[in-house]
Amino acid sequence: MPEENTQHAAYDSKIEGNVIFTKADAAINWMRSNSLWPMPMGLACCGIELMASGASRFDIARFGAEVMRFSPRQADVMIVAGTVTYKMALAVKRIWDQMPEPKWCIAMGACASSGGMYRSYATLQGIDNLIPVDVYVSGCPPRPEALLEGLMKLQRKVTEEESAMAHFQADSARTLEAAGS
Ligand code: SF4
Repeated sequence: MPEENTQHAAYDSKIEGNVIFTKADAAINWMRSNSLWPMPMGLACCGIELMASGASRFDIARFGAEVMRFSPRQADVMIVAGTVTYKMALAVKRIWDQMPEPKWCIAMGACASSGGMYRSYATLQGIDNLIPVDVYVSGCPPRPEALLEGLMKLQRKVTEEESAMAHFQADSARTLEAAGS
């Protein structure tokens, strides 16, 4: 008959309740999706709604995305909010290029998504002409709630993406294949 303390070490229902099993990919994506750091690219009126989404009434911090970074090197989601003129477009592209991978883009509002009402020689007809857009938020301007819904859509997308682990495994496989051939 084992002693009482031996039985305790073999099975502890408290520990059972505190242990979860998951895949590394799922854990990495979960962490990424709940700590998106935005690069606020406020270019016109939509920028005001973007600012409002960070204030207490809407509180973007509920989604872990309140850390607005004004350095592209510290950001992983660019929120393009406003009219993109040709004069500004290449600056937006340069900032995008300076953001490290993995990175995502939200086009906030009609102007960023399609040029909006500015069907003119001075306006880029959608930021997706220059950089890949993951989520489009409609409206002129979209309310902060609409941006938050776009953010939740992006979170769902990030959750389903290949993680760094998968990229690393694919890179390793390619390197081994190249070494073998
Ligand atoms: S979509 Fe409307 S509110 Fe937003 S930048 Fe364009 S004109 Fe301004």
